[in-house]
Amino acid sequence: MTADQPADLVLRGGRIPTIDAARSWASAVAVRNGRIVAVGPDPAVAAHVGANTRVIELRGRTVTPGFADAHVHAVTAGLARLRCDLSSVHGLGAYLEAIQAHALADREAPWIVGEGWSMSDFPGGIPSRVDLDRIVPDRPVYLESRDGHSAWVNTKALELAGVTAESQDPEDGRIDREADGTPGGGLQEGATSLVDRLVPAATARELDAALRLAQAYLHSLGITSWQDASVRPHVEEAAYVSLAARGDLTAKVVGAMKWDRTRGPEQIEDLDQRRAAMTIGRYRPTSVKLFMDGVLENHTGAMLDSYLDQSGKPTGNRGIAMIDQAVLMVAVPRLDALGFQPHFHTIGDRACREALDAVEAARRANGPSDTRPHIAHIQVIHPDDIGRFRQLGVTANAQPYWACHEDQQDQLTTPFLGPERASWQYPFRSLLDAGATLAMGSDWSVSTPDPMAEMEVAVNRIADYHRGERPVFLPDQRIGLMDALAAFTMGSAYVNHQDRDTGSIEVGKAADLAVFDRDLFDRGAGAIGETRCVGTFVDGVAVYEDPALEG
Ligand SMILES: [Zn+2]
Repeated sequence: MTADQPADLVLRGGRIPTIDAARSWASAVAVRNGRIVAVGPDPAVAAHVGANTRVIELRGRTVTPGFADAHVHAVTAGLARLRCDLSSVHGLGAYLEAIQAHALADREAPWIVGEGWSMSDFPGGIPSRVDLDRIVPDRPVYLESRDGHSAWVNTKALELAGVTAESQDPEDGRIDREADGTPGGGLQEGATSLVDRLVPAATARELDAALRLAQAYLHSLGITSWQDASVRPHVEEAAYVSLAARGDLTAKVVGAMKWDRTRGPEQIEDLDQRRAAMTIGRYRPTSVKLFMDGVLENHTGAMLDSYLDQSGKPTGNRGIAMIDQAVLMVAVPRLDALGFQPHFHTIGDRACREALDAVEAARRANGPSDTRPHIAHIQVIHPDDIGRFRQLGVTANAQPYWACHEDQQDQLTTPFLGPERASWQYPFRSLLDAGATLAMGSDWSVSTPDPMAEMEVAVNRIADYHRGERPVFLPDQRIGLMDALAAFTMGSAYVNHQDRDTGSIEVGKAADLAVFDRDLFDRGAGAIGETRCVGTFVDGVAVYEDPALEG
């Protein structure tokens, strides 16, 4: 017996976690006209194979639903890769080689702009202008550090910015200096803007190229949809609209329009207009990003109790709440009433509580809604607030790659929180146990966008680059691989309001699929993070294919 119409694509002989409600397994899937028409054991798809059906023999390899990155900065990450990208090299010699190669490749560029160097590669963490001057003396150079908190510039850039021995440090930053007071080429925090404000804005062509590059890279990792976590007019928005209008946006993208914290709730009208005007093709700007606080490493994350000093005594500093709470209590209910999704950035437990309070105010004002608010990062959550995620229908948007022992955690975070609060970090298991919906994302370019590396850390709470070297970080908060996979597919699809159409492998859904080079669930096959994507499909169309897919 054959089906009325044969499938366009059949994948069979695999290990397929379908991520349906029963968490069932299949070995084969059939696709026609971009939709899934059959899922099950191999015999269930046999009738769908016709003369023109493309058949991929999986031979025990895994197919998952397409991954959805619930918090990523695709355009700016792509831009960083187009510019002078130092994120994959280490050490002064390698940096200089990369910078020189970049400068030679584009002799016309008025500025050399890039990012990705690490403080640990310089004595005292501070780079020198002299090294840059030797290779680029005639054009200004501006290079941001990996964490975005410092910049490395050459003499030409300092000259153009008018930064001299006489210049005062700005209130919110520091100009690193040589022995005689001459600016030395390192700029810290707010001092970076002395030069950054002169760097030419990315052109429409650059933005377009940046998004194309990011999209191709994310597809190559099995990602078929995402939420851009900070969309500004003329920057990210221009890139998405440009690609979507040409039909070149192959990913399904929700944009989180950046809330301007220098303005009040009156900006909601502008957001509403942008949502109406910029919803094109696969791009939907239906979310609003509320940047609630800073980070713990420099004590700007908003905490309920104060940070400790080196000797463990309270400092009185509770970090910075970036959005006035009175504004928030008005803005979030109004956004919710207009059908906007609030997307919060919270690091500290005070920021998290204020976000939950704002959603509670929205629920009180508007009753239940389907706006699906979510809180990203959730580094520290006070235990009293864990249960509120489920109560209020707030999704926990985890960046699991950070939940491990690494230097930033062990040296710059744990000691200043003290043991009790340090144990409240990244409480993914507690959230799941309390019935919260969990989504996952990378925060790329801050961290790798590879979901396999991220899921490895969610499961083991050990960095993939420290396998076997460091202890498990808060072992009680480990989650299973199936839970991590569900968070990265159905959980993130839910956040993006795409769960009816994608996020699981079920008949009738879009054929958004990722094929991997092994059985993901077989630990004899190596670490989770070593798993490689070999093929990615959106609506049944291949958007990434490695020769190994057929091989
Ligand atoms: Zn982010």
